[in-house]
Amino acid sequence: MRTRNAVARDYYGILGVSREASDDEIKRAYRKLARQFHPDVNPDPEAQEKFKDINAAYEVLSDDRKRQIVDLGGDPLAPGGGGAGGPGGPGGAGPFVGFQDIMDAFFGGAAGGSRGPRPRTRPGADAILRLELDLHETAFGVEAPITVDTAVLCTTCSGAGTAAGTHLATCEACGGRGEVQSVQRTFLGQVVSARPCTVCQGYGTTIPHPCPTCAGDGRVRTRRSLTVKIPAGVEDGMRIRLAQQGEVGPGGGTAGDLYVEIHERPHDVYSRKGDDLHCRVTVPMTAAALGTRLTIKTLDSEETVDVKPGTQPASTLRLRARGVPHLRGTGRGDLYVHLDVRTPTKLDADQERMLREFAKTRGEEVAELSKQGGFFSRMRDAFNGHA
Ligand SMILES: [Zn+2]
Ligand SMILES: [Zn+2]
Repeated sequence: MRTRNAVARDYYGILGVSREASDDEIKRAYRKLARQFHPDVNPDPEAQEKFKDINAAYEVLSDDRKRQIVDLGGDPLAPGGGGAGGPGGPGGAGPFVGFQDIMDAFFGGAAGGSRGPRPRTRPGADAILRLELDLHETAFGVEAPITVDTAVLCTTCSGAGTAAGTHLATCEACGGRGEVQSVQRTFLGQVVSARPCTVCQGYGTTIPHPCPTCAGDGRVRTRRSLTVKIPAGVEDGMRIRLAQQGEVGPGGGTAGDLYVEIHERPHDVYSRKGDDLHCRVTVPMTAAALGTRLTIKTLDSEETVDVKPGTQPASTLRLRARGVPHLRGTGRGDLYVHLDVRTPTKLDADQERMLREFAKTRGEEVAELSKQGGFFSRMRDAFNGHA
């Protein structure tokens, strides 16, 4: 049985192709591996496992929608992964896929749905872009300028792919059907199949005079500047969707969406947990004992807070609603101020005398350490064998 992990599988790695691989490269890689590992050819149980992986990878990467899910970090075959290949889907079928299924996958048979010429105009892919923001920007929102590098509609031909004043021509090789029938001899015997017409790549039409700007693709790559409105309260890892700002499809097809993924830079003072913020403030031992008033710089204001007399080390002050605004709805997280009570490290003679008198009045026993070699240095010597 196929094992499905929570972690997205490396479908590109399984087929040994790059993330930028074209549909043809994916198909070629699959065909090569499928021939090598098909159980009819290679009865080794490990090969069968491998064959299942290869099929899963091809199922995903040959489907634009599933491939997008992979490119966005998901796994369309994972339970609840949003793909049609969940339990009961094509990916879950049988111990291995029959040879005809492979042929169908190549040549657009039953598994591929309707036959006939494929449309030149197809929807574009989604795109993703990382955006680094500092805490102030994620907390209060910002209008961030971004530069996007995607395919856009070719303005010379408006997506048609044909040079000015020219038109598509019906493919003479297939008569416009986009496919040709053929009988193939394989190791399973004769297989009759319809394969895409190689002259028109299955479109049923050819472009006798391609548009000089886009070479017939109907789209060109370009850098664009956009402004993305980041709402207050976003968090590291969140994605903002900009509808139809992704890649324009072949033949000028509807653009996919653009996802802007938020990356929050670490802050010098505050660490963020959800919408709460945490910071550390050092308080002298005397101030902790006697109580004091602190001025705390928050993200957007200054607050005066009282440290109660007798405050213990590792105490925390909570400033309500001084954290990050909630993304949806009203209100804000809290700011937690962690107090570091600091013991003085150097005392002059007067200070030491006063502190000893203070200890005496409280009946606290304090051993006298000689200036040369106190208790701790004697301990150290003992550990080092110098005693
Ligand atoms: Zn063009
Ligand atoms: Zn043709």
